[in-house]
Amino acid sequence: MSQLCPCHSERPYATCCQPIHQGKKRPSPTQLMRARYAAYALSKVRFIQKTERSDPPLLPKELIERRRTLKQFCQNTEFLGLQILDEAKLGKGQATVTFRATLLQNRQDASFTERSLFQQHNGRWVYISAISEK
Ligand SMILES: [Zn+2]
Repeated sequence: MSQLCPCHSERPYATCCQPIHQGKKRPSPTQLMRARYAAYALSKVRFIQKTERSDPPLLPKELIERRRTLKQFCQNTEFLGLQILDEAKLGKGQATVTFRATLLQNRQDASFTERSLFQQHNGRWVYISAISEK
């Protein structure tokens, strides 16, 4: 049985985001973006937290709160689509990925477009934050 990847790549999960979720493959910023979206769809909160950084780093109490918020978000949301619109390398181990996420929350459209900042930490890309569009 080949389950389609929840990142909406129309590829099997086993050869798309699963190896990234299992830590078997180092993703590019765009692949990480896809894998994080798939992790949201699968409520893989640990993966989501492992692939993001805050500056300053979150305190243990804040990490627990973040996990709770993430779990709630995953449970209340249907992840209907993902379109990668752009990836740009900024140099100095930074890159941005612009995407459109199609989401449904409590049966209401909660879709959004975001330009995300990613940074390399010890050779691995992590999500930093959204960059607001001017
Ligand atoms: Zn995928």
